[in-house]
Amino acid sequence: MIGSLQPIRRMLAPNAGVYTLEGTNTWIVGSDTTFVIDPGPDIPEHLADVAKEAGSVGAVLVTHDHPDHAPGAIPFGQLVGAPVYAFRLAGATKLSAGQRVRAGDLDLTVIHTPGHTSDHVAFFEAGSGALFTGDTVLGRGTSFIDPPDGDLVQYLRSLRRLMDLGARSIYPGHGPVVLRARDRLVEYLAHRDEREAQIVSALAEGSRTIAEMVEVIYADHPKEVHPLAARSVLAHLEKLAHEGRAERTGKADDGAWTASTPRTCQRCGRPVKGKGRYCDSCTLAMLQSEG
Ligand SMILES: [Zn+2]
Ligand SMILES: [Zn+2]
Repeated sequence: MIGSLQPIRRMLAPNAGVYTLEGTNTWIVGSDTTFVIDPGPDIPEHLADVAKEAGSVGAVLVTHDHPDHAPGAIPFGQLVGAPVYAFRLAGATKLSAGQRVRAGDLDLTVIHTPGHTSDHVAFFEAGSGALFTGDTVLGRGTSFIDPPDGDLVQYLRSLRRLMDLGARSIYPGHGPVVLRARDRLVEYLAHRDEREAQIVSALAEGSRTIAEMVEVIYADHPKEVHPLAARSVLAHLEKLAHEGRAERTGKADDGAWTASTPRTCQRCGRPVKGKGRYCDSCTLAMLQSEG
């Protein structure tokens, strides 16, 4: 059935919240044999509803191991007698990047999309252009990047990887289906650029703590979201630090950050991360030549 649209059904888990919008989307893909993506938390009523709707389940897939997506997967697999696949989940068969998973006439490609978490994967059905994004792209609002398992450098790379797929529609882990996949990915990249520019301009005025930056950048958001915003600002600062454009001056999490000028390697002229005189590959090369 390559090239045909598989029926895709959404079952909403009853776990609405700040991170989860109206709840986690459990996706049922196909008709005779189905894939079930992200059974959600271990909520027996939800799992029973999904089992009834999904019919003959060929495989259970997990996008990442967060508590709103993964804990129901193993119990659901047992309930319907189907194997469970995940990049990182105890009791599941391990997925690898680029792998194809098949069930009946369904065929999904595993796309490793670290960033929201390091184990995050998306699933792509090339025939219909359907892309299941978990928490990498949501139906509404932005994805939350919480260091250290969350990593903005990797996240941006993952968004570009998804862009290269040429997907038609996005079936997210939370929120409604996105019918213009490319537009949403462009929007997501632009949003991060905008946030980064705000942080860079805050640091240009002098050293700042994360709390001070959040007060200014998230001034029009309710105070309740400020702790989450602080994690997101930290993710941006870590990206800037990685690029040599910012550094932490205090040791603690509530310490100040300052702008810095990227240094260049004294051997090859490429940007250097951190405080060294040479880039990583030159350091390694020099060590090896010294034996
Ligand atoms: Zn998540
Ligand atoms: Zn989630």
